[in-house]
Amino acid sequence: MKSYYLHLRAFSCDQCQGAVVTGSTAVRESDIQRETEITQVGAICLSCGHRQNEATDPGKTRDFPPVLWDPPKEPLTGHAASAYLEMLNRENRH
Ligand SMILES: [Zn+2]
Repeated sequence: MKSYYLHLRAFSCDQCQGAVVTGSTAVRESDIQRETEITQVGAICLSCGHRQNEATDPGKTRDFPPVLWDPPKEPLTGHAASAYLEMLNRENRH
């Protein structure tokens, strides 16, 4: 059975030391398979609004346990969305 997961992680903001939160969603076809269809969501600092995609000090990144999430009702559709997903897939192959 397909499961949808939400992943959250947080790290320190370069500009104000506040909490930058970033998330991704992933699909797991079954319990024994790896997650697929991972979609990254933009990161933003909760304190100052600075958009910082990567932690400057990865050692301080905090990962929260993934939680089961209902699949979105309106997935990305149209040409722009498929081009975006293609780009992500290409990046994941490295
Ligand atoms: Zn900040």
